[in-house]
Amino acid sequence: AKSAGRNTQRFFDPQMQAQVNARAHLESDLRHAIHDGELQVYYQPVMNGHGQLLGAEALVRWRHPGRGLVMPIEFIDLAEQTGLIVDLGTFVMRTACEQLAAWAANPSTQCLTIAVNVSPRQFRNAGFVDEVLAIVDETGADPSKLKLELTENLLLGDVNETVCRMRELKERGVGFSLDDFGVGYSSLAYLKRLPLDQLKIDRSFVNDVLSDVNDAVIVRTILALAHNLELEVVAEGVENAGQVDFLVSNGCERFQGYHFGRPVPISEFERLHGFAPCA
Ligand code: C2E
Ligand code: CA
Ligand code: CA
Ligand code: CA
Repeated sequence: AKSAGRNTQRFFDPQMQAQVNARAHLESDLRHAIHDGELQVYYQPVMNGHGQLLGAEALVRWRHPGRGLVMPIEFIDLAEQTGLIVDLGTFVMRTACEQLAAWAANPSTQCLTIAVNVSPRQFRNAGFVDEVLAIVDETGADPSKLKLELTENLLLGDVNETVCRMRELKERGVGFSLDDFGVGYSSLAYLKRLPLDQLKIDRSFVNDVLSDVNDAVIVRTILALAHNLELEVVAEGVENAGQVDFLVSNGCERFQGYHFGRPVPISEFERLHGFAPCA
């Protein structure tokens, strides 16, 4: 309905209109990107304290024909809001599972795991569990090498439903990790209810662990909590040896960050991280 007044004027503010247009443009570009093969999966190594490779996290990138490499911060939220995250997520899941199947064929790579980020909208989509299992079957990936990274935002929804879905996948061997731990709103009670295998300490804490006493205390507390709950821990965003020393001396056994390797395309990942036989 047409109405004269201040609100109408504000809506047609040219700057705001430009933002709305840019967003609509990005949405239609992204819709095409998913189907035209412009998305690519990068892999970042996860290592133990001896620098041995344990696996990788799959991180999506968008090779935009005009804009070059577009990072997830510029399109994941939009994908989530528009529902495009479902198709995007399917692409990443399939690519990661194909990679697991390829690695399984070689004794020097068959132990490696791949972690895939799953957004709340994707996880709550009705077909999610069946789809993951279908992809695992079709690609021949070993589901026990697949880890799904969930965020605490998922706990804002129906927790019983979340637990049910997680159990269905866990029955097939799929693992679960709680990403960005410490920055969200999850209560410890929920943490115990979820059938998790792993926590990932958010990089904002790891970043200042040597200079900020509060962050050091938080990281130590998360490590102790995880160990008491018998969960694996990955420290994210590890950028230097000093951070590694602090983390190792507080019992951390898994690391991810630029110090160990940046996210790179699969060919570079395999070239850089030359694999070792299973321990
Ligand atoms: P995340 O899941 O927390 O992924 C880790 C992010 O930290 C990655 O950013 C990675 O490049 C960056 N990072 C790793 N090590 C370091 C470090 O040492 N220092 C610093 N400063 N940063 C580091 P990226 O790839 O830009 O991804 C950003 C976020 O986008 C991810 O955060 C994740 O939430 C989301 N995302 C990425 N790929 C996917 C996907 O396939 N599906 C979904 N749903 N979300 C994704
Ligand atoms: Ca993640
Ligand atoms: Ca994270
Ligand atoms: Ca801080």
